[in-house]
Amino acid sequence: MGTSTDRAEAKAERARGRERQRAANALLLGPVRSRLAAASALTALSSLCAVVPFILIAEVCRELLGPAPDWDRTWTLLLVSLGILGLRGLLSSVALLWSHLIDSEHQFTLRRLLARKLSRVPLGWFTERSSGEVKKHLQGDVEALHYLVAHARLEFVAAVTLPVATLVYLFVVDWRLSIVVTATLAGYAVVMSRIMGEGYTEKIASYEQWNAKVSASTIEFVDGIQVVRAFGQPRRGHHRYQRAIEGYSAFYTAWVTPITRLEGFGSLLLNPVVVMVLVLVAGLGLIGAAGARPDVLIPFIFLGLGIGGSVLALGYGAQALRQASAAAVRLWELTETPDLTDPADGPVPGSGLVRFEDVSFGYREGHLVLRGIDLELRPGTITALVGPSGSGKSTLARLLPRFFDVTAGRITVDGHDIRTLRSRDLYRSVGFVLQDVQLIAGTVRENLLLGRPDADDDAVERATRAAQIHDRILELPRGYDSEIGVDARLSGGEAQRLSIARALLADAPILVLDEATAFADPESEAAIQDALAVLVASRTVLVIAHRLHTIADVDHVVVLDEGRVVEQGPPAQLREGGGLFSRLWQANGRALQEVEEVASAPTTAVDNTEEVSA
Ligand code: ADP
Repeated sequence: MGTSTDRAEAKAERARGRERQRAANALLLGPVRSRLAAASALTALSSLCAVVPFILIAEVCRELLGPAPDWDRTWTLLLVSLGILGLRGLLSSVALLWSHLIDSEHQFTLRRLLARKLSRVPLGWFTERSSGEVKKHLQGDVEALHYLVAHARLEFVAAVTLPVATLVYLFVVDWRLSIVVTATLAGYAVVMSRIMGEGYTEKIASYEQWNAKVSASTIEFVDGIQVVRAFGQPRRGHHRYQRAIEGYSAFYTAWVTPITRLEGFGSLLLNPVVVMVLVLVAGLGLIGAAGARPDVLIPFIFLGLGIGGSVLALGYGAQALRQASAAAVRLWELTETPDLTDPADGPVPGSGLVRFEDVSFGYREGHLVLRGIDLELRPGTITALVGPSGSGKSTLARLLPRFFDVTAGRITVDGHDIRTLRSRDLYRSVGFVLQDVQLIAGTVRENLLLGRPDADDDAVERATRAAQIHDRILELPRGYDSEIGVDARLSGGEAQRLSIARALLADAPILVLDEATAFADPESEAAIQDALAVLVASRTVLVIAHRLHTIADVDHVVVLDEGRVVEQGPPAQLREGGGLFSRLWQANGRALQEVEEVASAPTTAVDNTEEVSA
């Protein structure tokens, strides 16, 4: 019972996969399909032209070994075969050139489609993915489609045409010997179908998952290596990496060992020597028993031996097509991501009164991480979001700049649902400074001007001075014209102050801050706190507080637990209230005390300031 349900589910999943593939091919390859088909036809013709000279030369040999060679026919056959070889060269160059022309146009359209899509997906699409994943889409998957359009399709067509044309000729020469050749190919096909049979797709999916796991743990290992070694525990960082490698190698060995045996047997069947021995044995039998002419063996020795190689090429071609098809599906899924709606016209918010009205949100359907949130952020006040790790603070804060849209309820700015505002107006009203500071490739000045391109030098300097980063910028080799990552290498704290300056310059009346100082060094922390003090003055501010001692002076605290608001009010009142906030506050006090004790102890240098709310 269970297995038949499983089978039905697997069948339905395969059907969905095929549907996705069809949709992906229609969208991404549809525009070039007819031209690609024409280039494929040209390739098929060119492959035929590759086989025909061999056939003619085999015929020449048969003619010469016959009882009365016809020299005129021999020369004609040789000249024709030379002519066809020349034609093949011409046809294959034209097909390749044509496919590359189709591809360059296709790449242009595809990249434009993706660039447009990326400018419309919600910002949260990027935070949900590592930069490695985004790069895989934009580089790896696009390249896979290039390979598909410019090479793989044509190579596949050639790999099919060659053996088929050869077999047709061989059957014309002698169907009995051809059956021997066909039997070896059929044997190979059976072996391959066993390899690619049930569970292959799932195995490939697991293989990709293991690969992703290994590369993630490699990056983690390499990124963390300095810290781990600095604390004298090189083995510690090793563990996850080692576990991933061991898991991968166990999976790979279990999967590939039986396949390798089968594959070895399959390759043996296509081995030219094996095919030659089989053909010779069968041929000798045929000559002895049925009185066939010995020259019947010549075409089989000329052409039959090469057929295995072209079938192997077919396997590689099919693999390349499969990979390109998977890339097409991934790109199609990206194009299917719903756009962030951006109305052409909308109200322009003013003072910055923000309301969350009965807001619920889930990243996945049926799994809410925020439920029934009612909040009011008044202009000129700072509201701190507090709660255990995973309670939904970052999610809630990211809904205001529309990293994601609410699942239910609404968020308003001055009474207007934020979904009705033009995104330009929304981002003029709502600025954000998040922990993972994003600086674009370009100069320091270009980064600062992102929020207000028309700001003059005085305004820029006022912002950088207020954010305590002006002096540091002047120390860079080319000052404000230094390029990020080239001659402007900034520490984490400095990059944060630069992003605060950028927010100051953009001058949005509403600000979302992920308490940006969590990982800064003490000196930077003081500078960042001063910069933030300037930034938040007279704005509507929502700050995600990871450490409670930094929010003692805020106007309003909202305590989240498991996606609900469990308490809210002024911090002094909540501290005495005996609820979750007062417990977190006490835990925070104890942690701070421990940190101070550790810091004042003479021998240790370990910073153990963990996120108290965790
Ligand atoms: P906090 O900021 O309080 O630590 P988060 O808002 O980061 O909490 O997370 C709230 C819940 O949402 C957690 O269960 C977390 O696992 C989940 N979550 C956070 N980000 C994502 C995401 N991009 N996709 C799916 N689930 C997420």
